Amino acid sequence: MKLLVLSVLLAFASSANVPKKRAAYYPNVFYTSLPYLQNDGNNYEVWLTYVPVPVPTAIVELKGEGSEVSGRITFTQPQGGPVIYTGNVTGLSEGLHGFHIHEFGDVSKDCKSVGAHFNPGYTHHGGPADPYRHIGDLGNIKANAEGLAQVHDSDHLISLHGHNSIIGRSLVISANKDDYGRGGDKESLRTGNSGDTVACGAIVWIHPVRPKPPQEGESAKPEGGADTEIVEP
Ligand SMILES: [Zn+2]
Repeated sequence: MKLLVLSVLLAFASSANVPKKRAAYYPNVFYTSLPYLQNDGNNYEVWLTYVPVPVPTAIVELKGEGSEVSGRITFTQPQGGPVIYTGNVTGLSEGLHGFHIHEFGDVSKDCKSVGAHFNPGYTHHGGPADPYRHIGDLGNIKANAEGLAQVHDSDHLISLHGHNSIIGRSLVISANKDDYGRGGDKESLRTGNSGDTVACGAIVWIHPVRPKPPQEGESAKPEGGADTEIVEP
């Protein structure tokens, strides 16, 4: 009868203050199986390593084109899910402004060389919740009477990796409201009649955010996340 000796070692990246519940904060598990060379190949050592994987993070610094508009938006994509984007834009006129990813990140000629809306599917313009839309169609942001737009939203089509990656592209703020392609004219299906560009910036990687383990007495369950519990042996 073949004998299989399984030695399981749990190695934690920071063992000192790690609470019992940790799955949401240590999402990737690496299994490394190494045969003992001195034996007959039936003995294995298995390492399970729970690593606090950094959340991919990108940023765009918005600068105005002939305007005082400026801002900074951060994009993160925890565990390969929807991209969460958050930040502030200031110097806007009150109301709604188109908020779109454009195909190129070249902002060397102000915002004139950023191309059209990012559209790898060659479809028409739409709203962020529409089944057919440019990948870059993130809709509108709303500025208050002081010209401040506080942005906190997520999108399921843009990504920080792969075919729909927005890295190296640009974020553009428009002068007018995006009509989501419902304006009834040609320009509506191209840009949502969102008008001139008032600010743009290139989307670039920054040092990733490391997920923080929950503190003592804090719930380990993330908002909307799975209620998974891993108990130390
Ligand atoms: Zn579009």
